Amino acid sequence: MARRKKIYEGKAKTLYEGPEPGTIVQYFKDDATAFNAEKRAVIEGKGVLNNLLSEYFMLGLSNLGIPNHFLKRLNMREQLVRACEIVPLEIIVRNYAAGTMAKRLGIDEGTQLPRPIVEYCLKDDKLGDPLVTEEHIAAFGWASQQDMDDILSLALRVNDFLSGVMYGVGIRLVDFKIEIGRVYEGDFQRLIVADEISPDSCRLWDIETGRKLDKDVFRRDLGDLSDAYTEVARRLGVLPRSGNAVPGPKLVQ
Ligand code: 5GP
Repeated sequence: MARRKKIYEGKAKTLYEGPEPGTIVQYFKDDATAFNAEKRAVIEGKGVLNNLLSEYFMLGLSNLGIPNHFLKRLNMREQLVRACEIVPLEIIVRNYAAGTMAKRLGIDEGTQLPRPIVEYCLKDDKLGDPLVTEEHIAAFGWASQQDMDDILSLALRVNDFLSGVMYGVGIRLVDFKIEIGRVYEGDFQRLIVADEISPDSCRLWDIETGRKLDKDVFRRDLGDLSDAYTEVARRLGVLPRSGNAVPGPKLVQ
């Protein structure tokens, strides 16, 4: 059997060359990392859940005409996506104060923000993905002013969509991170939502109980991460209501 070409191995995903030019196979691993990979574990079944959830969210975005990289799911762990040039920024949208913003500005976690706030971090693990301003982005040429206008608009549209979907199943979208890719169509370039949208990159709190249903469960040792992700997937109808698509996911230290 021919061996496929690995393009990139990240912390939670591996990318392989796709079957057609301009496509990539995105394989979701079970690895969980936090604090710039200082904390690591393998959570059996996490990759399957994130593959299904990212498919669900990307298809939802497509239905609203919000451009993204998703083409089709190939199997329980892999999806086919459009190849793109990733803009070297993490785009964070926050609806409630939490995480680094709560700490940086001394705001109580859970405080509703006056409006969604968009932040940009440089994608650089060695530097710990530092917060940057639009001045840095323009001066260092990471994205143009037109790109930044498009990125802001995409980020806010994704926020409206995701907030609504999550609210519908009793979950508060506290914040999330997306990545943006550049694709070329003839003489034109277009920006699309890339990477993944999953509980690895969102903060999701149960509206009634405040229970955390995202990667903070792992970061802060709050219980079983796969239980939390399974709950999100069940509520969204991504998993059958009875029985797991993922057999008995467990934390493997
Ligand atoms: P914070 O800046 O508070 O750590 O993160 C804000 C939001 O962005 C959270 O939902 C968090 O999960 C997400 N986020 C920030 N940086 C990363 C990252 O490097 N990887 C992933 N998967 N999510 C991130």
